[in-house]
Amino acid sequence: MTEKVITEKLAIHGGAKVKTTSFGEGKRFGIEEATQLLEALEQNTLFYHQGNKVKTFLNDFNQLVGVKYSVATSSGTAAIHVALGAAGISVGDEVITGPITDQGTLIGILYQNAIPVFADLLPHTYNMDPAAIESKITERTKAILVVHLAGNPSDMDAIMEIARKHHLIVIEDCAQSYMAKYKGKYVGTIGDYGCFSTNDFKHISTGDGGMVTVNSGDEDDFLKTHAFADKNYQRFGQSVQRDLHYVAPNYRMTELQGAVGIAQLKKLPWICEQRRQFGDRITAGIKDLPGVAAHEVTEGGECTYWFYMLRLNEANLTCTREQFSKALLEEGIPNSAGYIPDVVYMQPMFQARQAYLNSHFPFDITGITYDRGLCPNAEEILQTAIRLRVSEFFTAQDIEDMIAGIRKVEQYYRKK
Ligand SMILES: *Cc1c(COP(=O)(O)O)cnc(C)c1O
Repeated sequence: MTEKVITEKLAIHGGAKVKTTSFGEGKRFGIEEATQLLEALEQNTLFYHQGNKVKTFLNDFNQLVGVKYSVATSSGTAAIHVALGAAGISVGDEVITGPITDQGTLIGILYQNAIPVFADLLPHTYNMDPAAIESKITERTKAILVVHLAGNPSDMDAIMEIARKHHLIVIEDCAQSYMAKYKGKYVGTIGDYGCFSTNDFKHISTGDGGMVTVNSGDEDDFLKTHAFADKNYQRFGQSVQRDLHYVAPNYRMTELQGAVGIAQLKKLPWICEQRRQFGDRITAGIKDLPGVAAHEVTEGGECTYWFYMLRLNEANLTCTREQFSKALLEEGIPNSAGYIPDVVYMQPMFQARQAYLNSHFPFDITGITYDRGLCPNAEEILQTAIRLRVSEFFTAQDIEDMIAGIRKVEQYYRKK
């Protein structure tokens, strides 16, 4: 690998670009997925309970992460709703979660008529600050919905201790964090439930889909979770039980998704290892720069970088974030200024307190409001972040070029 000589003149000012070759690319799907799909069709059923594909997919997933039980769902959003429903989260309960996430984290909370309560994040791991979680606990709090953002495990020792102390359920949103580890354990296996997504933008894809692990290892918990994803049908006895004691949605995964998932899971360890190495290398390559703060991995953790997000130390730079982002792009390094445009509680749904059209329920149970400044670290993260794509198909040289690009732009704009 060649160390790039930094040319002083930025590409945006007519200098030579740092990156002159295209980024590594690859095909996510191949003959392995096609073979599985054909086998699924040859079963003459695409229903998960009659075929073998979803079952095999779940067995393989359980083995990979080391759990006894998991349930397949139609999406990651569905997986989170299923965990909440199976855990008995219900009307007027409060669920503490993070303000930088996909809205899929929040939808299940509101479908259960529970109330999302946001805890602030740590400034450089972008995960919930355990002290902030504890400060939000009330007598209504029933669960902590931990988001492991961008492949980075949260501080689970501290979170589990708080949960035990206050008798709270812990649900892990691992949609962005396949095979991320915390002190040797995979995320999604530490709390009561772990929720995953196989939508087309995640580490692995089945088009859409999801999984929820049932970490108690208790058969009754598993059966309850399984039924909650399937209209409360209980399919494991002598005959199918359709007695309806409470509402549960239909979030079933089809055999087609299960089939693709079997092939995708075989690629997952490699995908995660590539991303882990690439992300950690970027950090090593930029951590000495005063103008930027690297994406910090939680102590005792291994991050599998769904993306890489650094922050600008604007006090040490003469440029705006938009100038930095544009200059980096001109060097041939695609990036975006920020992640989601704003913290999720600034969404109209929270501002108008309208989860359901023509209603303020369940927000009006407690009269909660969601105001600017609620989670200052999270708000600031989104204002100063630069996000870089990480792909398992990148080459080691691509990563060196990304580092060289960041170093060149930072050096130019650094306050002297
Ligand atoms: C993608 C994602 C979800 C939702 O997954 P879907 O499969 O799109 O429903 C939930 N939480 C986080 C953090 C995500 O990134």
